Amino acid sequence: EKYVYNFNEGDKSMRSLLGGKGANLAEMTNMGINVPYGFTVSTEACARFYKEDKKIWDSLKDEITRHIKDLEEHNKKTFGSTEDPLLVSVRSGAPVSMPGMMDTILNLGLNDDAVIGLSKKTNNERFAYDSYRRFIQMFADVAMGIDKNNFEKVLTAKKRANGVKEDTDLTAEDLKEVVEEYKLVYKTLKGEDFPQDPREQLDASITAVFASWNNERAILYRKLNDIDDSMGTAVNVQSMVFGNMGDNSGTGVAFSRNPATGENKLFGEYLINAQGEDVVAGVRTPKEIATLKEAMPDVYQEFYDTSEKLEQHYKDMQDMEFTIQDGKLYLLQTRNGKRTAQAAVKVAVDMVHEGLLDEKEAILRVNPKDLDGILHPTLSQKAIDENTPIAKGLAASPGAAVGYIAFTAKEAKERAAKGVDVILVREETSPEDLEGMVSATGILTARGGMTSHAAVVARGMGKCCVSGAHDIEVIEDERVVLVDGKELTDENIISIDGSTGNIYLGELETQNPKLEGDFGEFMGWVDKYRDMKVRTNADTPNDAKQALEFGAEGIGLCRTEHMFFKADRIFQVRKMILAHNKETRKEALDKILPMQEDDFYKIYSLMGERPVTVRLLDPPLHEFLPRGQEEIRTLAEDLNMEIAQVKKRILDLEEVNPMLGFRGLRLGVRYPEISRMQARAIIQAALHCHEDGIKVIPEIMIPLSSDAKELSYVKEEVKDEIEKVFEEKGKKIDYLLGTMIEIPRAAITADEIGEITDFFSFGTNDLTQMTFGLSRDDAGKFLDLYLDKDIFAKDPFQVLDQKGVGFLVETAVEKGKKANPNLHLGICGEHGGEPTTVKYLYGVGLDYVSCSPFRVPIAKLAAAQAAI
Ligand code: ADP
Ligand code: MG
Ligand code: MG
Repeated sequence: EKYVYNFNEGDKSMRSLLGGKGANLAEMTNMGINVPYGFTVSTEACARFYKEDKKIWDSLKDEITRHIKDLEEHNKKTFGSTEDPLLVSVRSGAPVSMPGMMDTILNLGLNDDAVIGLSKKTNNERFAYDSYRRFIQMFADVAMGIDKNNFEKVLTAKKRANGVKEDTDLTAEDLKEVVEEYKLVYKTLKGEDFPQDPREQLDASITAVFASWNNERAILYRKLNDIDDSMGTAVNVQSMVFGNMGDNSGTGVAFSRNPATGENKLFGEYLINAQGEDVVAGVRTPKEIATLKEAMPDVYQEFYDTSEKLEQHYKDMQDMEFTIQDGKLYLLQTRNGKRTAQAAVKVAVDMVHEGLLDEKEAILRVNPKDLDGILHPTLSQKAIDENTPIAKGLAASPGAAVGYIAFTAKEAKERAAKGVDVILVREETSPEDLEGMVSATGILTARGGMTSHAAVVARGMGKCCVSGAHDIEVIEDERVVLVDGKELTDENIISIDGSTGNIYLGELETQNPKLEGDFGEFMGWVDKYRDMKVRTNADTPNDAKQALEFGAEGIGLCRTEHMFFKADRIFQVRKMILAHNKETRKEALDKILPMQEDDFYKIYSLMGERPVTVRLLDPPLHEFLPRGQEEIRTLAEDLNMEIAQVKKRILDLEEVNPMLGFRGLRLGVRYPEISRMQARAIIQAALHCHEDGIKVIPEIMIPLSSDAKELSYVKEEVKDEIEKVFEEKGKKIDYLLGTMIEIPRAAITADEIGEITDFFSFGTNDLTQMTFGLSRDDAGKFLDLYLDKDIFAKDPFQVLDQKGVGFLVETAVEKGKKANPNLHLGICGEHGGEPTTVKYLYGVGLDYVSCSPFRVPIAKLAAAQAAI
């Protein structure tokens, strides 16, 4: 069995066997690029290492010995030579890049003999002993687990004794003494001599690199980045080159393009007379790569050409490590560079223009999730670097917001009207806070999860929101926020970052999104290769306008209840709910009708002939009712009722379990006149548009059905009212009547329901809630635990659970289509903007997904990728 591969035996396709670093070192070697020669011990060896009690077995040792021989011959150097010793680095490298998570050892092979050889060969005794003492420390730390502080102390003491400040002030003689002391420290702490046999050093180092796959930070990194724990790491053993051999040597890292902006220009830094880690460690301030052009013109040109060559070859932006030894350039690593969303789009578009990629390849290059970063104003990198958060909550809705603290919706509205930027800070928000949320630049709550009211509504508005920030305490009565030992009031400005959940004290700098230019061109290609439609969830003409700017192709969910909360309406709505007889209710409904009709007319006019699905009233009625004494009194007066009577009505409407209660189409069963009023408003608005020449086909959606007969009851009421309108106006138009599938029983009986509807829209928020029996408003409090304990891989309210909830969706699609081949299918839950879910739903065969305006480009990109 083969476990070891020379660099000239591999290539870039062998990532899973050789690791990313090893595969690319092999690829570069075969491209004729100057790479210090070496070999890779495979990930298969790592897997076997863990099976064999974390030990290197004999036949692997033999295999390594053969490759070391080969390396010695190739370099004409030998391990431990006093003339010209072979020195190597031992570098980790997993199939997926995990920068800085695992260990690397440099200058391996140095011992009491080799140090003499290195000194002779380089004609630099000081350099040789400095390398030796570094190696002892690194080996002790990485391979033997001896804290490097034990060595640092020796070095510091030496400097003090000699009265010097910098390491570089120590002479060769000083360093020789340091080496002796280091060996002593090693012996004391390890109980044995520092190994002089390079081969023994090598085996211990390979063992250490394999073991580092399971160090704590690597495990955490894999968890955070969804990387499979079973892959293991490869180990690369590579001849050393020295960037610290004088002023004609150096080392650096560079990207072939700017990873922040995407600009097509070398981006990076280097240090003259330094070794690898020095650039990252910040020992000295590195220089910009551009200045290498003057310092070493030939080397710069060669590096520039190599960078171009690598880009052409990999067809992607490269992140490279290089070392210059005595005027000669060596490449030590290349990989596809990590980049911001802005840069990802720009690089993809530029590479199409350069002929490097075709449009489809470019589309696949950008991660839909990352687009989020482009679509909202964000904190500037400078602001993030220079400030420390005072607390952290959930990154509920991306973007950044800066403003004064406002404690109530009313206050937020009033101060915003005066032109003050405010952030609405509440324990938790409720539908009554809506206007305050509209006015605020951002929302911060101490309780509630990713699908809490604040989070869902904020995402819908494309407004920055940090929810569930348990570290802050909002004392609404006293109008203070307690955080980090401080008391904040309405006179404090805070900044919140909805992309990270971080909360800052003070006014941080923000920057705005740009949707034209490269991004516009990119989205043009996305539209070209996509066939599933992307609509938006929009409740107001304002939302609709925003969504159109982001490219929405219709509205998949227009929630009428949000229109009910406007200040001039809520009073009539409350009258309608509290009315003790049909006449009073009718009176209130008659007042609401023209307002709703006007809303719909405005939305239809804006959307033109794009489809718009309007959902009839959904939430439990008690959500609309007043809590304050004063409001109750005014209402009672106007309704000609006793205060006590009104209070009783309010009490009657209270429910222990409102989400499973009197809501959705159940309201229509009890109060058909409400459904009728809404249907009338929709149809009259559409007729009005037809008069304007806009041929709207209204889509009326009945929420929360669980049974065909129940649905049919409300449907008949709605149809009857529509017929009446047609008769009154003397004009008929086409319209669609559909329902939401959000109760498991509806999915299971989708054949019966499909027979009597024109469309299904999957309300996956409720469907998830009801399938799991998990309250979407409360589950946030313990779902984290499920994720921490790996019971759930993903929050099912964010990423659709394909096994359970998906099964219901697939069942409903299949049964519904069989009963009604013309059935139109869409989704309007939060999942409609989540890339993996969008790809899944494309496979299930939905006609469209609908998501909040700001996620439209994300859903479009995911849909295009699914189609390619
Ligand atoms: P990481 O994955 O943390 O970047 P690397 O294995 O890339 O670890 O190595 C750490 C540093 O050591 C890098 O700066 C690299 O360029 C340098 N280095 C690694 N191998 C050699 C070598 N053979 N000669 C010179 N420098 C090396
Ligand atoms: Mg590296
Ligand atoms: Mg619902």
